Amino acid sequence: MATTAEPSPTTTAEAAGGPTKAKGWGTDAPDQPLHPMEFERRALRPDDVAIQITYAGICHSDLHTARNDWGGTRYPVIPGHEIVGTVTAIGNEVTRHRVGDTVAVGCMVDSCMECDQCLEGWEVFCRKGCVQTYNSEDYHDHTISKGGYTDHVVVRDHFCLKVPEGMDVSKIAPLLCAGITTYSPLRQYNVGPNTKMAVVGLGGLGHMGVKLGAALGAHVTMITTTPSKGKDARELGAHDVIISTDEQQMRDAATRFDFILNTIPVSHEIDGYLNLLGRSGRMVIVGALTPMPGFTGFNIIWWNRAVGGSAIGGIPETQEMLDFCAAKGIYPDCEFIEMNQVNEAYERLLKNDVRYRFVIDMSKGL
Ligand SMILES: [Zn+2]
Ligand SMILES: [Zn+2]
Repeated sequence: MATTAEPSPTTTAEAAGGPTKAKGWGTDAPDQPLHPMEFERRALRPDDVAIQITYAGICHSDLHTARNDWGGTRYPVIPGHEIVGTVTAIGNEVTRHRVGDTVAVGCMVDSCMECDQCLEGWEVFCRKGCVQTYNSEDYHDHTISKGGYTDHVVVRDHFCLKVPEGMDVSKIAPLLCAGITTYSPLRQYNVGPNTKMAVVGLGGLGHMGVKLGAALGAHVTMITTTPSKGKDARELGAHDVIISTDEQQMRDAATRFDFILNTIPVSHEIDGYLNLLGRSGRMVIVGALTPMPGFTGFNIIWWNRAVGGSAIGGIPETQEMLDFCAAKGIYPDCEFIEMNQVNEAYERLLKNDVRYRFVIDMSKGL
């Protein structure tokens, strides 16, 4: 039973009845462009929330999944895991959300909520395997999840984040993947006012790394191959820039950093970056998923350095990140598009031609 009288009888799960017709943009094959399609969203379960989507971010993973770059895509696929919207109906056991609330959904929509990982707030590593927002099998009805390039979505209440009062709703979506992916490692390794931090790579992830690192009080250096990107990074809040192709600059920066956030999205050599870490310094890789070349053992043994990775973040930390961004006024830099421009946006994303995240404005229709 709902805890407040606010939801009207017409917006309760009972009134919403069975499955609902949904519209979205997806694709049937790796070599096909995205196009409009219709499908059904499930009837609300007791702990479900239905959300009218207002904005959806475009992540590199969306493109990789649509084109089956990693294998395992189950067509038709509808991507999108950076979602913001308004609650339109709730299941009869939902107490955390009310009809009319502004909410957000990231990369997960369900997990077992019983294993050690779930109980510790790391649902992403659920022992049963979390249900991802798209291309993932639902535990109950075994349908394949459909993401945020749609008019509405139905998710388990726990996976629905509260958007703090007063936030600019249009710019929140990219926080749900790019934001938490960069915020989580900064928090895991206590990046703060005494940290000399570097960010490698300036795209959707890197630009959030610069903003969040600076907001946490760290001294932030952008490491890039491109001088013009150094200038862009300073505008985002970086305090210093190193051009990685300049051997003298790289030599001068040896052992300078406590922490390096490595956002390069493709396989690459890391020895040159390891040399920049000081005693017990750590590099965290968040972008490259494919096999990487080896590195020289000496470069981590000497100076007690570490190389690690980090995957999005759990739900409690995602909520903390949203609250932090609200308090500090931090937003991604967004380029807004309409749904029918998504294929063009994908082509530009492949060329890294976006500053720094595409966001689909659903108010223009699907
Ligand atoms: Zn993503
Ligand atoms: Zn679990």
